Amino acid sequence: MANNYLKLQFLSLPRNQAFARDAVAAFCLELNPSLSDLSDIKTAVSEAVTNCTVHAYKKEAGTVTLECEIEDGQLHITVSDEGGGIADIEQAIQPFYTSLPSAERSGMGFTIMQTFMDEFKVNSKVGGGTTVFMTKSFKTEVENA
Ligand code: ATP
Ligand code: MG
Repeated sequence: MANNYLKLQFLSLPRNQAFARDAVAAFCLELNPSLSDLSDIKTAVSEAVTNCTVHAYKKEAGTVTLECEIEDGQLHITVSDEGGGIADIEQAIQPFYTSLPSAERSGMGFTIMQTFMDEFKVNSKVGGGTTVFMTKSFKTEVENA
């Protein structure tokens, strides 16, 4: 099957989180994902988009760019913002690390993305925004048989 591509831009408002994860789920249906794969993808996208809402843009909502690419049975997802950025990525991706311990945050968002997806990478620059790359690999029909 031919490769496919989707790009969405939306404001980092909490009410767009469900929209973003459902859009990715709908986009990847052509790969015949299992319910468990779909659930993993939706959870990972939710965590990445929530981070844009909560951490990247603190005072006013800003633009979130979500890109998905289907390539050779793999789903590549990029979630990027132009917000405040992350000073120490190594620290930020540690389980239970949160810069907002007083709020309702557990510091598990990046760990969830890493665990639920097959590949995970974060690029960030203080004052220059953050980009999260994630890939989910799908078995071919032959492998599923
Ligand atoms: P939880 O996701 O469990 O609610 P959390 O968001 O603090 O808590 P992570 O998602 O793992 O935990 O993120 C860890 C830390 O990385 C955050 O506390 C924040 O400091 C930083 N961070 C994550 N995403 C961004 C982003 N898009 N822009 C700026 N900082 C970010
Ligand atoms: Mg988070």
